[in-house]
Amino acid sequence: MTYTILRGGRVLDIAAGTANFADILIEGDTVREIGQPGCPAPEGAVEISAARRLLHPGLVNAHTHGHGNLAKGMGDRWTLELLLTAAPWIVGNRTGEDEYLSTQPGAVEMVLKGCTACYDLSFEWPVPTVEGLAGAAAAYAEVGMRAVVAPMIADRSFYEAIPGLREALPAPLRERVDALRLPPSEATLAAVSGAFRDWSFDRDRVRPAVAPTIPHHCSDAFILGCAALAREFDVGLHSHVAESKVQAVTGIRLYGRTQTAHLEGLGVLGPHFTVAHGVWLDKDDMGRLGDHGASVAHNPGSNMRLGSGLADARAMLERRVNLGIGTDGASCSDNQNMYEAMRLASFVSKVQGPDWQRWLTTREAALAATEGSAGALGFGDRIGRIAPGYKADIVMLDLDHPNWLPLNNPVNQRVHTEDGTAVASVMIGGRLVVDNRRVTTVDLDRLRDRVAVARERLAAANADYRRLYEALEPVVGSHCPGLARAPYHVHRYGARLD
Ligand SMILES: [Zn+2]
Repeated sequence: MTYTILRGGRVLDIAAGTANFADILIEGDTVREIGQPGCPAPEGAVEISAARRLLHPGLVNAHTHGHGNLAKGMGDRWTLELLLTAAPWIVGNRTGEDEYLSTQPGAVEMVLKGCTACYDLSFEWPVPTVEGLAGAAAAYAEVGMRAVVAPMIADRSFYEAIPGLREALPAPLRERVDALRLPPSEATLAAVSGAFRDWSFDRDRVRPAVAPTIPHHCSDAFILGCAALAREFDVGLHSHVAESKVQAVTGIRLYGRTQTAHLEGLGVLGPHFTVAHGVWLDKDDMGRLGDHGASVAHNPGSNMRLGSGLADARAMLERRVNLGIGTDGASCSDNQNMYEAMRLASFVSKVQGPDWQRWLTTREAALAATEGSAGALGFGDRIGRIAPGYKADIVMLDLDHPNWLPLNNPVNQRVHTEDGTAVASVMIGGRLVVDNRRVTTVDLDRLRDRVAVARERLAAANADYRRLYEALEPVVGSHCPGLARAPYHVHRYGARLD
């Protein structure tokens, strides 16, 4: 067994709010001991200096989309529904290699910005493929990052899922969107099952999960099929629930109750279930999620960018929901910076009311972005903390960087001041994947060239889908806000439509 010892650093203890000097002994990929400075190490242990470094557990991104990285910057004033309308333009005509080339820039960005694991809801249209999922998984494995790769699937198109939308389209556009119908659910579930059966990646590093994309984009039979797959392969379930008001209103219209109440009725909630966003959850929904030990991936940046709203993280914590934090994908919240996501989680809480005692503390935001997100990924007993028995996923911040001049309070500064620019080195499973601000595992020049070629080819191949988006934008862009104007009461009274 190989030993590594990190000497001379200050180790952040989020719960205690301290950053005391300590040496960290690592055996293979696991932290063995946190000792006094200068503590003895086994013979032959590799010594790494962490002098003038603040060591914190790797950040864990509870919700992103690797397929979004090739689409960064493609839209500006997009609601969630306009983003979904743009999907064929964003992800059309992709190969398995394109999935890899879309995922890897995000993985590189995340590790450079102190994130060591993520939950990636990976989308291939119209159905997931073995090559596409393997491409996404390989992108993370090569960078050396941990990931849960969950194919995002459905059996209803966006136009079938939104009440009245198809009927609101002029006939020629209706014909075009009818051609976007999804394959039968059996074909999609069989494709996912086949990919999971052939999974060749170390599940300690890159494991699969299932993501029925949005509840009302899926028939109940399809959701139950996803849950059965999750059980069969012992993997997580992750869905966008109550993200936008359009979704919340649609849920009530379709189910006569909230999406979350409906999911509970189907029996699919549990500790393996993660709700993405949860902006429009009412307090009963949060209670349901808490009672089932489920998680919420809180994506404050995306929720503001798409105009979805401000999620009430305090109310979730009060109901024992496991709270994680995510960036969401690059097509809707742009960068993959978990420091920014943590900071926004804190700020979004503070802007919701004058009762400052209900605002998230920096400690709560920091714990959500590590232990909370790790729980959502199903890695809760192995990552998210620097402690004996946990994986050696450790970020080293440069205390000589202006962000830390001076060091007053390590937790407040890590959440509110740090923006990723002080990340000096990042270790994942005992291996330095970022060393002195450079990624050690992949050839960035080669990646850049391959991404440029893919971008050009896809822009040409999807030009027609772009025109289709432009034709649909005015209709979707007026129909969906119309739905969202429905009076809809949440939080205090339980969700209902008037
Ligand atoms: Zn998402």
